[in-house]
Amino acid sequence: MAFTDEESTAKGRASIRVGEDHPRSVTLPGIGVVRVHDDTRRLRRMLAAGRARILFATVSRRAGRWRISLNVQAADLHPDLQHPTRQAGDHGGWAGVDRGLHIPVVAATAEGAQTVRVDVAPKATRTAQPTTRRLSRAVSRKKKGSANRRKAAAHLGRHHEKIRNRRQHFLHQVSNLLVKTHDQLVLEDLNVTGMLANHRLAAAISDAAWGELARQITYKATWRGGTVLTADRWFPSSKTCSACGVVKQALTLADRVFTCGACGISLDRDLNAAVNLATWGEQHHSQVPDPEARGRVTNAHRQDGPDPRPGASETSLQDVGTDYAPAA
Ligand SMILES: [Zn+2]
Repeated sequence: MAFTDEESTAKGRASIRVGEDHPRSVTLPGIGVVRVHDDTRRLRRMLAAGRARILFATVSRRAGRWRISLNVQAADLHPDLQHPTRQAGDHGGWAGVDRGLHIPVVAATAEGAQTVRVDVAPKATRTAQPTTRRLSRAVSRKKKGSANRRKAAAHLGRHHEKIRNRRQHFLHQVSNLLVKTHDQLVLEDLNVTGMLANHRLAAAISDAAWGELARQITYKATWRGGTVLTADRWFPSSKTCSACGVVKQALTLADRVFTCGACGISLDRDLNAAVNLATWGEQHHSQVPDPEARGRVTNAHRQDGPDPRPGASETSLQDVGTDYAPAA
C-alpha cells in the first residue's frame, strides 16, 4: 500500500504528517492518525526546519507487524560530516575491504596498514538455531489448517524477524564505521565472495548479508562525499602477494596466513586481500565517476528564491537515521 504526498502542494499542508497527535504517530491520507513504535522527533525537527520533505509512505506487513516506511528527500549532510574533496591528481588514500572467512571484515590501505578489523561475528543465525529448529518442529507437529498451526507459524516468523533485525543492526554498525573513517573504498565483487563461500564454516556473514553491507556502504559513502569502487570479479585479491604481486595458485581456504614463495613475506590472509583491493583502487581510480555524474547535489540547488529541494540548511549527524532500532 502506498500513499503519495500529492495534496501537500495544493493545500500548502502535507497530507502525510508525523507526530501530529502524539510524538509517536504518523498521519496518512484517508486513514488518519496511526500510532507507531519509533519516536518521530528527528524527522519532525527536519521537517519543521524545511530540511526534509516526505515524498511518499509505504505500508507493509511482515512477521505479524505493520510497518510504515517514509520516503524522505533530505538536505545534504553537513559539510563537516563529509570527506574533504581530494586534490586533482591525488589518486591515493584507497582502502580495500575484505570479507574474511573467519571474521567479518578487514580494511587496509595499499601501504599495508590495517585500518578496520571487525572480529566479532554476528552469530545471530547460529546461536538462534536451536530455537529455530524447535519452533519449526512445533509448526510441523500442528494439524494443517488449524489455529494452533497458524499461531506456531506466526511465532516462527517473529523469531526469523528478530534474527534479521540483529543482523541488520550489525551491518549498519560496520558500514557506518567504514564510511566514517574512509573516503575511498574498494569492495570485493559479490560473485567472487560467493565462489569463496565455505559452508562448513557457516560463513559469519552470508552472501546476502555481504550484498546488503555493500549496498549500505555505497549509499552512506555518497552522503559523506566518499567513493566506492568494486574490484573486477576476476581480480585474485586473496591469491596475490600484496608485497611483490606474484599470484599464488595453491591457496586453500584452510590457509589462514598468506606466505609468498617468491618474496617470503608472511601475513594474515584477510589483511593481504584487503591490501590488494586497496592497490586495485589506486590502479583503477579512473573508473570513479565524476562528482556530477555521481548525483551529488552539494550547492547545486542551493540558490535564493523558491526551491523545491530542501536546502534551508544541512542534515546533521543527529538527523541521519542510520542507527537501527529493531522493534521490541
Ligand atoms: Zn611476494
